[in-house]
Amino acid sequence: MNCITIANQKGGVGKTTTAINLGTALAATGMKVLLLDLDPQGNASTGLGISRADRARSSYDLLVGDATLDEATIPTKVPRLDIIPATVDLSGAEIELVEFEERTHRLDKAIRRAEGDWDVMLIDCPPSLGLLTMNAMVAADSLLVPLQCEFFALEGLSQLLNTVERIRTRFNPGLSILGVALTMYDRRNRLTEQVSDDVRAVLGRVVFDTVIPRNVRLSEAPSHGLPALIYDHRCPGSEAYIALARELIARLPDHAPQPAPRSARAA
Ligand code: ADP
Ligand code: MG
Repeated sequence: MNCITIANQKGGVGKTTTAINLGTALAATGMKVLLLDLDPQGNASTGLGISRADRARSSYDLLVGDATLDEATIPTKVPRLDIIPATVDLSGAEIELVEFEERTHRLDKAIRRAEGDWDVMLIDCPPSLGLLTMNAMVAADSLLVPLQCEFFALEGLSQLLNTVERIRTRFNPGLSILGVALTMYDRRNRLTEQVSDDVRAVLGRVVFDTVIPRNVRLSEAPSHGLPALIYDHRCPGSEAYIALARELIARLPDHAPQPAPRSARAA
């Protein structure tokens, strides 16, 4: 199973929207996908129509309790897309995890023991670089970073990349950056283009060619408990996530070699 962590310590940059729609697009290609909701807000779970009653087992039980990955997994309405939902319990996990000696490896251990036959796992992280996100980075093969096309896009990225470097040195030397996805791209806004040019100049080929446009359908879909790809599969947002999935698959280790990030230093 290829484990991809979707992280950015900024909130509202499109992590959850990317987790849901990329997960759906990958499942549509025939892959078996597991989405792990690691945000106490549980937006990925709600966005996929998982009711509170269906969250008897959650990512909290996986990290703090002793549920296995297989036990905590439930299906979604999307064929081949499973989820481990999140509940508010998870908001206490950062503190409860401190009690464990192997607090950074709880998730990694749970994944190693899993028996399910998923091809890809996507982890939707909370907007912080705390123990939950650390667990996700320790467990992951690679990282996908959604970056919102706004003036302060690059601010905070160096902090994220420093964390990645620390995780690599101490826990997970194989952690790679699969790609940076520009989100909420607005072609009518000149600033968007400028930010996009700056980001590409600094980060180089690690930035996906595909950009995710600002598209109201993407923000409407979660209130219907559906991925945008099912709510309106022809909207520009859905098409962009299908293109992103295609690009991402080409970067997975068993496909093409991953382009090396040019430099994180300038960020
Ligand atoms: P995060 O998980 O990083 O906090 P979300 O994916 O929840 O970010 O996105 C934040 C808000 O912006 C949500 O209301 C979401 O519906 C909306 N949103 C995300 N991506 C887009 C987009 N490309 N176009 C329009 N709205 C978007
Ligand atoms: Mg989110």
